[in-house]
Amino acid sequence: MASVTFDGVRKVYGKTIALKGIDLEVRDGEFMVLLGPSGCGKTTLLRCLAGLERIDGGAVRIGENDVSDLPPRDRNIAMVFQSYAVFPHMTVYDNIAFGLRMRKTPKDDIDRRVREGAALLQLEPFLQRYPAQLSGGQRQRVAVARALVTDSPVLLMDEPLSNLDALLRLHARAELKRLHGEVPRTTVYVTHDQVEALSMGDRIAVMRDGEIIQLDVPGAIYDRPATLFVGSFIGSPPMNFLRCVAKDGTAVGDGFEIAGPPGMDGRTLLLGIRPENIRIGEGPINGTVTVAEPLGSHTLLTVRVGSESMKVIAPADSTVRPNEQLRFAPEPHKIRWMDEPTGRALPVSQ
Ligand code: ATP
Repeated sequence: MASVTFDGVRKVYGKTIALKGIDLEVRDGEFMVLLGPSGCGKTTLLRCLAGLERIDGGAVRIGENDVSDLPPRDRNIAMVFQSYAVFPHMTVYDNIAFGLRMRKTPKDDIDRRVREGAALLQLEPFLQRYPAQLSGGQRQRVAVARALVTDSPVLLMDEPLSNLDALLRLHARAELKRLHGEVPRTTVYVTHDQVEALSMGDRIAVMRDGEIIQLDVPGAIYDRPATLFVGSFIGSPPMNFLRCVAKDGTAVGDGFEIAGPPGMDGRTLLLGIRPENIRIGEGPINGTVTVAEPLGSHTLLTVRVGSESMKVIAPADSTVRPNEQLRFAPEPHKIRWMDEPTGRALPVSQ
């Protein structure tokens, strides 16, 4: 196994700075997720690690070795890319076996591992088919299986589940996680699906505009977003942010007053609170329910608070109806205060 280190990695395409000096260490055996909106640089970072792009500054290391100038084949990396490439003239079996044959793995070993990989991704019925006889999702699974069965200590995956239907995606997600638990390999996994990121990552690097905005374990990214952007990007629905002004240890918003951070007099703040961390029927926030959506496991309320709106998760059997005026209490230890002008979280001690 091997760690992966990005040391001030820069990548420029003409006028676009795709990576603005990325520092990131992926530990030996760690499952690192790169998460961020389209165009933030996730794929570029992965391609720089794979050697498919030359970097314009900094260094990429695998273990102790600086691989910045090595061609892809000398980096000993297995990869699955968005535009998953499978060999059209080979059967599914031969596609999955490809990397193992290149490394002269014994035949029995190849057979066992191909069948394991196929089972993992539910490809057993298709082993003798050619890619042209498969759906897009099935082809993608062949590409994932081919990467998983190799011995490469570093595994790169770029949205490997994007073409799978919802049910298969759930299954594949759990299988990848199980496999990683059994055989931990240093993995860098790109997605813009926050559920995938939260469920699979040992740590998540949230990216935006060629930079890493926050790097932490999934629970911390979810509970303590570093910025307004992270809080708004992660969670479905995302964190609520209510504007208020600090005054004598109180935060005064449009139609509510609540205990706020001390020493911030006159500053405009955002009260960040997740929809599931708001109690209904008591508390300092007065709101009017505008929509109540029964969603099976819970009811999602849209609530007007002054001139703003927030989402609140109520129990499935909630009898709350539109136009009801209710009081709401954000759980104090779940509040995340942000400085409105900068969009950055205040230190927790404040
Ligand atoms: P997505 O989720 O849509 O795949 P991403 O986060 O992977 O997005 P990248 O593909 O890494 O984003 O792109 C980062 C930036 O670099 C974007 O602004 C993109 O337009 C630009 N870019 C990427 N590849 C090239 C290229 N070959 N030539 C010019 N610009 C490029």
